[in-house]
Amino acid sequence: MKHEAFPLPLDATPADAQTVEKLRRLLEQERRARRDAEAIAERGLRELYESQVRLALLQRITDFANQSNDFGAVLDMALKEICVHMGWDFANAIRVAEGGREAVACNTWYAADPKRLFPFVEVSREFTVPRGEGLPGRVLRDDHPHWIDDIADEAWFHRRREALQAKLLSACAFPISVGEEMVAIIEFFSSKPMVDKDNILLTITQAGTQVGRVIERERARAALLHDALHDAMTGLPNRVLLDERCRAAFQHLPADRTGLAIMVIDLDGFKAINDKYGHHAGDALLVDVTGRFEAAIVAFQQSSGRAGHATLARVGGDEFVVLLDGLPDPEAAERLAALLHDVLRAPTQVDNDLVNAGASIGIAYSGPVYDDVEQIRRDADLAMYEAKGEGSGRTVTFTDALGTEARNRMALERELREAIRDKQFVLFYQPIFALGGDRRLMGYEALIRWQHPTRGLIDPGAFLPAAEESGLIVFIGDWVLRQACTALARLHARMPKGSGEPPFISINIAPQQFLQPSFAQQIQRVLAETGVPPDCVRLEVTEGVAIIDADRTRQVLEEIRDWGVRTSLDDFGTGYSSLSYLQNLPFDTLKIDRSFVASIDDPKSRNIVRAILDLAGSLNLSVVAEGIESQDQGRTLIEMGCEYGQGFHLGVPLDEKAAFALVDERRAA
Ligand code: C2E
Ligand code: MG
Ligand code: MG
Repeated sequence: MKHEAFPLPLDATPADAQTVEKLRRLLEQERRARRDAEAIAERGLRELYESQVRLALLQRITDFANQSNDFGAVLDMALKEICVHMGWDFANAIRVAEGGREAVACNTWYAADPKRLFPFVEVSREFTVPRGEGLPGRVLRDDHPHWIDDIADEAWFHRRREALQAKLLSACAFPISVGEEMVAIIEFFSSKPMVDKDNILLTITQAGTQVGRVIERERARAALLHDALHDAMTGLPNRVLLDERCRAAFQHLPADRTGLAIMVIDLDGFKAINDKYGHHAGDALLVDVTGRFEAAIVAFQQSSGRAGHATLARVGGDEFVVLLDGLPDPEAAERLAALLHDVLRAPTQVDNDLVNAGASIGIAYSGPVYDDVEQIRRDADLAMYEAKGEGSGRTVTFTDALGTEARNRMALERELREAIRDKQFVLFYQPIFALGGDRRLMGYEALIRWQHPTRGLIDPGAFLPAAEESGLIVFIGDWVLRQACTALARLHARMPKGSGEPPFISINIAPQQFLQPSFAQQIQRVLAETGVPPDCVRLEVTEGVAIIDADRTRQVLEEIRDWGVRTSLDDFGTGYSSLSYLQNLPFDTLKIDRSFVASIDDPKSRNIVRAILDLAGSLNLSVVAEGIESQDQGRTLIEMGCEYGQGFHLGVPLDEKAAFALVDERRAA
């Protein structure tokens, strides 16, 4: 810096010279301070400008990344933007492949002047390097950016010769990661020395993050799609995906529509396992079963020479479906079903127990009669229910006959629902007598009839099984209970006081109805509502209820007997006739099944009846013989000591008016 001269007057004293010198230095200091301040301001402005450029660049990349789902296109755009705005000569993208073992250039690059860089572009467009080698390989290995200040110095750099030929000097490379996983590497080359590495690092890293978000979004979308089509617990296709595959498979069937089968699989007793061990155990069992089914399907495909295609789906709690497509032969589905039963044979550990989960399988094959795949699915479902009805571990293949039968049953069920709604049921009453002496009328058994609008009066044998199977028996039974007690109340009401022991009503209770948790309450309610004396009500159950749950049966019987209600064991001798039930369950009455009465001429039957009477006597039970059709039968029973009886010979079941008129006849007699 040149000093400015300050000419002094001739008469200046040395003191003046000193003052001038001081002023000069002060001025100089001031100038320097101003220049520094200007330089600082200028640098600040430049930095501000640069960061604005960087921000704008990032904003453009971010906007593009937000709008696009195409990772390649976003990479392409980002490379170009970064090159143009940061002054690089060449940029290149490399994908991470083979689970992170390789870096593969993917022909995604940008060059400001491709002609000038030609040989280098050529070697950079497509190459593969293992992890650890070359520039991208090092980034892949170390998971951080790498810099080359002077390419001439780096012998390990593979493309060194072409780079020098293109007069490139410096380079850098950065990872692009999604979460923990590196998905790509981007590299940049320049013919100038690199300045301000901090800024480069910041800008390119941020750009890389934006580019990576495209993949992240794609993955999230794919995961959502997967979740929408798969069962979260087992990972199997769900109903939606199954439906889609079924429709697609059906569309591709040949003209005769053969070659496809649908199997519906329902685990037997799964609910019981769930209830006993809890939902976690149930879930674990389902996952275990899924693994076994998958193994069976693999074995099936191997044994079929890999013909056909199988989709195993979970469509409900314990319900699975297999779609078999391109079947190798007409019995293929049965073969797979056998394998599925096989894999379930080994027990599963649930808590500390070993449980056996069996399955019921229904199969339906495609064919010319089907218009859509839903119909096949419905028929497979129907076959599965049929298999369930046959017991555990069965397979049933749908046939036309089965279809007709099931449709009839379904029609009957529908009609039963209408019957409940339209009150088409009526009760008949069959008198029960004391057999000896003057044959006293003791009470009645209420027996249901269906007053069908077109078919007339229908006996219970024709509709109760369907009512039990469909669960409708619970509603019907409730109606019977109310109706019978109301009728008895009417009968009692019109009997004069002091006219002797009032007649009882005997009401049949189906096992399902009896085992309802609210059954005892229901009895109590009906007793309260109708006001009938509890000891005039008898509930008839069969051994079926004890077989299902003996403990609960005893509990319920004891409870209702505490209120005074009487209990009868119906149809004794036909079922299990287990003496232990008879001994342990609190019954008042035992009803000998009419089959023994019908054959009472046969000494064998007579011996059985005698044994039953002895047993009843020792257990202090009264006995009613059912189905007495002749005077002889009645006499024999009286001789054997049977106290009570009912039957066509004594009185057929009649409607309320006719049946209850018997009370008046008796009084009149
Ligand atoms: P059950 O309880 O053993 O009733 C006796 C059945 O024997 C009645 O048949 C009755 O009509 C019939 N019967 C009576 N005397 C004679 C006879 O001398 N000879 C012959 N061959 N049969 C005789 P029904 O009314 O057809 O009822 C059949 C079964 O249906 C009943 O057997 C009972 O188990 C069930 N049932 C009837 N009504 C109801 C009801 O309201 N609820 C429930 N859950 N079951 C009912
Ligand atoms: Mg009965
Ligand atoms: Mg009976």
